[in-house]
Amino acid sequence: MNTIKTTCPYCGVGCGIEATVEDRATHRVSIKGDSNHPANFGRLCSKGATLGDTVSLENRLLSPSIQGQRVDWESALDHVAERFKTIIAQHGPEAVAFYVSGQLLTEDYYVANKLMKGFIGTANIDTNSRLCMSSAVVGYKRAFGADTVPCNYEDLEQAELILLVGSNAAWCHPIAFQRIRKAKENNPNLKIVVIDPRATASCDIADLHLPVKPGMDALLFNGILAYLQQNNRIDQTYIDTHTEGFAAALHEAVKAAGSIEQVAAACGLPSEAVATLFDWFASTEKTVTVYSQGINQSSSGSDKCNAIINCHLASGRIGKPGMGPFSFTGQPNAMGGREVGGLANTLAAHMDLENPEHVDRVGRFWGSDKVADKQGLKAVAMFDAIAAGQIKAVWIMATNPVVSMPDADKVKRALQQCELVVVSDCIANTDTAKLAHVLLPATGWSEKDGTVTNLERRISRQRPLFPASGEAKHDWWIISQVAQRMGFSDAFNYQSSADIFREHAALSAFENDAEHQLRDFNLSAFALLDRSGYDALQPVQWPVTNVQSAGAARMFTDGQYYTSNRKARFIPITPRPPVNAPDNDYPFTLNTGRLRDQWHTMTRTSLAAKLNAHRPEPFVEIHPADAERLGLATRSLTQIESRWGSMLARVEINPGQQIGSLFVPMHWTDQISSHGRMGAVVNPVVDPHSGQPESKQTPVKINAWPARWYATILSRRSLQFAGVEYQVSVRGDHYFRYELASTDPGQDWRAWSRSLLAAVEHRDEDSCWLEYSDQQAGHYRTAYLPDHELQACLLVGPDCELPEPGWLGSLFAKKQLSRAERLSLLSGLPPKGEADIGRIVCSCFNVGEKTIRHAVQAQQLQSVADISACLSAGSGCGSCVAELKEFLPKPS
Ligand code: SF4
Repeated sequence: MNTIKTTCPYCGVGCGIEATVEDRATHRVSIKGDSNHPANFGRLCSKGATLGDTVSLENRLLSPSIQGQRVDWESALDHVAERFKTIIAQHGPEAVAFYVSGQLLTEDYYVANKLMKGFIGTANIDTNSRLCMSSAVVGYKRAFGADTVPCNYEDLEQAELILLVGSNAAWCHPIAFQRIRKAKENNPNLKIVVIDPRATASCDIADLHLPVKPGMDALLFNGILAYLQQNNRIDQTYIDTHTEGFAAALHEAVKAAGSIEQVAAACGLPSEAVATLFDWFASTEKTVTVYSQGINQSSSGSDKCNAIINCHLASGRIGKPGMGPFSFTGQPNAMGGREVGGLANTLAAHMDLENPEHVDRVGRFWGSDKVADKQGLKAVAMFDAIAAGQIKAVWIMATNPVVSMPDADKVKRALQQCELVVVSDCIANTDTAKLAHVLLPATGWSEKDGTVTNLERRISRQRPLFPASGEAKHDWWIISQVAQRMGFSDAFNYQSSADIFREHAALSAFENDAEHQLRDFNLSAFALLDRSGYDALQPVQWPVTNVQSAGAARMFTDGQYYTSNRKARFIPITPRPPVNAPDNDYPFTLNTGRLRDQWHTMTRTSLAAKLNAHRPEPFVEIHPADAERLGLATRSLTQIESRWGSMLARVEINPGQQIGSLFVPMHWTDQISSHGRMGAVVNPVVDPHSGQPESKQTPVKINAWPARWYATILSRRSLQFAGVEYQVSVRGDHYFRYELASTDPGQDWRAWSRSLLAAVEHRDEDSCWLEYSDQQAGHYRTAYLPDHELQACLLVGPDCELPEPGWLGSLFAKKQLSRAERLSLLSGLPPKGEADIGRIVCSCFNVGEKTIRHAVQAQQLQSVADISACLSAGSGCGSCVAELKEFLPKPS
């Protein structure tokens, strides 16, 4: 068996993986954490650990097609190149666009960017990373003169105070969070503050949670800046020597945040809590501020980033162990995309479109006189231009904007009317692929070969476990082939990803010296890297130069920045609330975010039954007081509506929500849920500097959805339901689960179930069926089990009080059901003496809530450690530890 070191393709933590291929033909592979990888030292979260369940050929896009007709690669590539050339000839380069992804490897990204900005001659290439961290890029560039992440994971372990701001790292960056948790266990002096409108799983280790009013983070950090100055806690020497603009930033901060009371009132926080935060920040030298989408996804996201950075510059807490402003990126290669210039407002190798010297330098390096010299359209503006018919051809790579973009219904309509939509992806059925004129099959994670950069600037190799499936090709190859057909053969004559990485490294080093202008991103050590060196590449943090070949763990250690005078810049920040405020018609603020066990639009994670068990359906979290006022019961269906669109979701009542705020996860698509796309609801407001959408604050209303019946179906084979208004499909182990509901009257359930669930020859064979009906009460239950093997079951009721189907699902693993099981089947509950584990809490060890509740009671368990010792729950990736605590007895 062959063990290969590679990297997890999900979040920005960038965990190293050891994959052992057990059977190439069936894509069987076992996955474990790479104990030598400096990002994770062997740990993996639930998503990384289940990668082996997601590499089958199910739903893979395996051959090229044009207008739904399968074609060979030559025809597909000729067609794409010809159509792009024709549209450019008729309407100019601004009439075409690429929308790419933080899922691409750096080499893919580099080639896409080079083609669009260097040879087509427009900067109309943007990336889904726009939705995730583009405000952080603006923040760093404004302050440091470069998009430089100063910190690393060791700083989290060396800190004495960590602020998690707009970051539910426990779920979104689980292994980085586990490192923080461990650091806190090892160092009782380490204080954790969570600044987030919601009480999230990250609060589990918090010494202080500040449920700040949505959107008020900049004011809070302005308050810290003012407090530092008022209490003589600024580092005047650092400010004088290494920065500029402090007085103006302080002046602005003091205006609205000059006192603790002012800040507390504006942020909706108790004064004591604000005072504690200010005091801790002022008195703790080793402070790291971690910030993520809760900061970035805002119409003032860039300013919030700079408000945070201002505080670190003022206290000189940057460039030293255990301190710094640390942006956590969401995607596995968002950072690689930043390096190659995958954003519409950056060039390549951390150079700028609007700097003539940079444009000239890149042009000379690439051998092109067409390099774009002005910004292209950022994601929201790009899809607006498609909707307006200004962009007539778009190539979408490895992303699903019909789900993830704000105002997603408009994005869908834009693509429906676009002249040419090309989609390259490894997945066949996505909401976006459905709208493509041309589909190009790309290699998936287990086949790709290249590099990614994690959120601490660490470049790691992603190595192939299997050969490409079907006719799939690497993204860089597809783009290069189109580029060659467009007439750019010499510049795109790559034979391997190693060729591209070498060129990328050489560009980063090109005229990167004091004589021209030093740039932060420099891989000069790899500019001549040969194939064997590339294959053997070890994880390393850039810059990696000929004089610093081991990379750089930390930046700005000498207080020298990348501005023209080498000084960091304070940015005066005037806090602004979200653009759209709740009103009488839309009185709630909708927040969106990620779940623990799913990734983005679930195209891969939903293939792993284990990952679907934690939260199987779209849901909305609401405060108990709001739920009571609106008469919303747990698990009932609600409609959430904004001025832009609507969605349906199950109610989850959660006291961790603020009154007047709602939270929905970002993951569900039209492919697996009829009305679960949150993007349809989100307002398309953007930050004026970064173009990042305000995905955390949309005014909405929420109302009970008047379902007249609810149904759960479990079936060994997959099913289709025409005309059912609400439907969600969930992959289980050996079965498919469907949750259905409708505002229509119920039907003849007997006839419906028999036509739907059974083979034709068994439909009328009563011996194959169990059945229970109470027409008056609206209950119907049936099971189809020829030869006592469960094939399917249907539970219908007038409300959402159907049994949780955990036990029923477990019956599909059995060849034959016992008599007791058959007798219990229609109740949905196990026979006496058999356990129903309930909803899964610990995905690593498949431990359900009923099992935990029972064990805690029966064995008087007092701590998470007790639960782990008893059930193993919580001892794997550790992401469920916060939830496990909810089962423990409350202190009296
Ligand atoms: S934390 Fe989880 S999702 Fe993120 S890289 Fe590590 S294993 Fe993958």
